Amino acid sequence: MVARDESLTLRVSEIFYSLQGEASRIGLPTVFVRLTGCPLRCSWCDTTHAFTGGARMSLDAILHRVAEFGTRHVCVTGGEPLAQTACLVLLTALCDAGYDVSLETSGALDVSAVDSRVSRIVDLKAPSSGETEKNLWANLACLTAADEIKFVVADRQDYEWTRQVIRDNRLEGVCPLLISPVQGAIGPQMLAEWVLADRLPVRFQLQLHKLLWGNMQGK
Ligand code: SF4
Repeated sequence: MVARDESLTLRVSEIFYSLQGEASRIGLPTVFVRLTGCPLRCSWCDTTHAFTGGARMSLDAILHRVAEFGTRHVCVTGGEPLAQTACLVLLTALCDAGYDVSLETSGALDVSAVDSRVSRIVDLKAPSSGETEKNLWANLACLTAADEIKFVVADRQDYEWTRQVIRDNRLEGVCPLLISPVQGAIGPQMLAEWVLADRLPVRFQLQLHKLLWGNMQGK
């Protein structure tokens, strides 16, 4: 249990309202709380604007802003949201307020202390990201069926790495698995064909928000 400190603040890159672009909640109207900062530097990162900047906000100010959008789904993302330890308090506060809460995390930091009501969407970084060695494999042991593991694939090497990781760790028995192409690096159709050929136990996905709005920030 994380104690709530009323003086707590977090550095927030942006809070915005859009459709959830990926994972099981895809298409649902969602408020996104994007926290500033990330200790990783994935080669294909599409949220570099969240590495720095943003503004300090109190927990109450964040909750107030989220409430203004009037929707029940909230996604805490980054950057790497868990890089700010107060993120754990924010997640619990959002759950206590009655929201359906998901967390998008790099998979490089410990997710075991995240409120059990939160659905953890955990990346496993494939080789082309340049950050494979940061994968915190111990995270796999604490995931449940309410969580999801996400692979982002840029080339055939990434795909074969993903396939091996799934098989070696029997991940299909852990939680839903997601696979998606790096935009502009690999043809989505090619990745789809590989998944089908191997009968890989994953959900293939394209990022809905990019199909709708391109790389527009705040969407
Ligand atoms: S973990 Fe996410 S935010 Fe951080 S560098 Fe990688 S893709 Fe970007």
